Amino acid sequence: MTLISYADFHARSLAERDAFWAEQARRIDWQTPPQQVCDVSRPPFARWFVGGTTNLCHNAVDRHAAKRPDDPALIWVSTEVGQERVYSFAELQAEVETLAAILVAQGVGQGDRVLIYMPMIPEAAFAMLACARIGAIHSVVFGGFASVSLASRIDDAAPKLIISADAGSRGGKVVAYKPLLDEAITLAAHKPARVLMVDRGLAAFTPVAGRDLDYGALRTAHHGQRVPVAWLESNSISYTLYTSGTTGKPKGVQRDVGGYAVALATSMDYIFGGKPGETYFSTSDIGWVVGHSYIIYGPLIAGMATLMYEGLPINPDAGIWWSLVEKYGVTVMFSAPTAVRVLKKHDASLLKRHDLSSLRALFLAGEPLDEPTARWIAEALGVPIVDNYWQTETGWPLLTVANHIPGVAPVSTRFGSPGMPMYGYGVKLLDESTGEELTAPNQKGVLVIEHPLPPGALQTVWGDDARFVSTYWSSVPGRQVYSTFDWGMRDADGYTFILGRTDDVINVAGHRLGTREIEECISGHAAVAEVAVVGVADQLKGQVALAFAVPREMPATPEAARALEAQVMKRVDEQLGAVARPSRVLFVSVLPKTRSGKLLRRALQAVAEGRDPGDLTTLDDPGALAQVTTLLRG
Ligand code: AMP
Repeated sequence: MTLISYADFHARSLAERDAFWAEQARRIDWQTPPQQVCDVSRPPFARWFVGGTTNLCHNAVDRHAAKRPDDPALIWVSTEVGQERVYSFAELQAEVETLAAILVAQGVGQGDRVLIYMPMIPEAAFAMLACARIGAIHSVVFGGFASVSLASRIDDAAPKLIISADAGSRGGKVVAYKPLLDEAITLAAHKPARVLMVDRGLAAFTPVAGRDLDYGALRTAHHGQRVPVAWLESNSISYTLYTSGTTGKPKGVQRDVGGYAVALATSMDYIFGGKPGETYFSTSDIGWVVGHSYIIYGPLIAGMATLMYEGLPINPDAGIWWSLVEKYGVTVMFSAPTAVRVLKKHDASLLKRHDLSSLRALFLAGEPLDEPTARWIAEALGVPIVDNYWQTETGWPLLTVANHIPGVAPVSTRFGSPGMPMYGYGVKLLDESTGEELTAPNQKGVLVIEHPLPPGALQTVWGDDARFVSTYWSSVPGRQVYSTFDWGMRDADGYTFILGRTDDVINVAGHRLGTREIEECISGHAAVAEVAVVGVADQLKGQVALAFAVPREMPATPEAARALEAQVMKRVDEQLGAVARPSRVLFVSVLPKTRSGKLLRRALQAVAEGRDPGDLTTLDDPGALAQVTTLLRG
């Protein structure tokens, strides 16, 4: 068979867009087939598979349960509480229907929001799928976020019901969720009518009378109840997921039903090469987009078993993930560079102790993959390491190598580059100030996507179409294109390299954080007058947050400075969560600003990373940067 090049395949996916996606849409079950593949009549919005009715839960669970009821669907392993459970497709469907029945009995229906604030336990998966089943919109908030972050998301999503648990566990330490949730509900203006509590018996709590419901008791009461799937028009909302941007207010990335299902089904085949009956293991968390797409929906839609893991990668030892690969015959694995860097600090022989012959590839995403990390894991595993670049907004990989497309010549990977634009994405590099397209190799520009975004990408910002347009589609002069807010560069062979963010978003251990949110939290401390937070390079986490604060009164001694620093960090822990805690809070008398008062973040970041801060002609007070330099040396 003669093979076509990937570049030709990609070009066809754009030139014959509707034919391409109509073909992909056959991968899922439709109750009513779509009448129109893509409605582009109102740019920059796009509507996929218009008129078709389908359901994510049906495609992820029911259709497999009907054919292969006893095959494993959800494998749950917790090294935190020392438990393992395997749910077949039939068992998973029963649990999902039970939870759906509980939701329905509480008056939750199509279009209602359900906020999920849970650790990595099977009930979290049941909760997401139960919402999808009845057409309720889920909004999962990462369990590592604390009360203030959670409160702002409660207010934005305005959920009818919240599903939570008494506690998570991290490294053997119980992390109580209920006090954080209660505090968040107190802070929020919107009050959910009901809170459904999963009691793991880890942290005792007192239920709020008239509001809190006990999942255990309701599960017994509703077990065995059947809840038919709600057939939803393809453009109905499946979920919102909050992500950080330039402003302090998080954006609810909103996704559809049909487009998402088709995009995931296609990616599971073309990109991941996953087959029904096999096992997929993603080490992410349901609080992140990878957890939505590649712990829950993607693998299940593809008919694979998905392995959900609660625990650290190094507990009981750094071989735990490989022992799971061996035990459950994992064929496709998905993780983040930061996790590999953690493993790399441990004995590589832990890896060799296990039979990893089932594993075909390891996919890594979420942050830049550095060469030493890529080489170490490639040598240790002896399987392809596939870097893939995407965002919460896109829902599935934007740049990678897709080596499972029939009739298409394989593409080799190149260290330092996640790869090439995926089918369906009209990716361009543009000059930031003129908006002109950069076509010559090795030029740095803003990575953008042309309208329409492919299926699976965000529909809009929840409740705020204007923000969707003004944030994503209005940053390049004279052109309505979607900005990724990442710098990119393409080499002569078409490999794209990611060169960092164009905005104030930082990436700590693969977690996306907005520096503004952290600044707002710190400046709320009574002793702090002003603060700047920047992301600086870190060997293990990729980046860490570093805060420079102007105190109302300079601490008199180093001990006093340390004490204030500890207070500020505690405030961040309690309000935003430990993920957002800066590695240091350094006190300065003045921040580097331009004469017009604009904070020179890039200069601050450069000095903190020991680089040349560049052109400083606009700097108002040259002493400001000198002070930072001296402090950092200290
Ligand atoms: P999130 O929305 O949390 O997935 O974060 C998306 C951002 O993470 C992107 O805009 C990039 O800045 C960064 N990112 C994700 N994957 C990669 C990758 N493979 N290489 C480089 N940067 C990445």
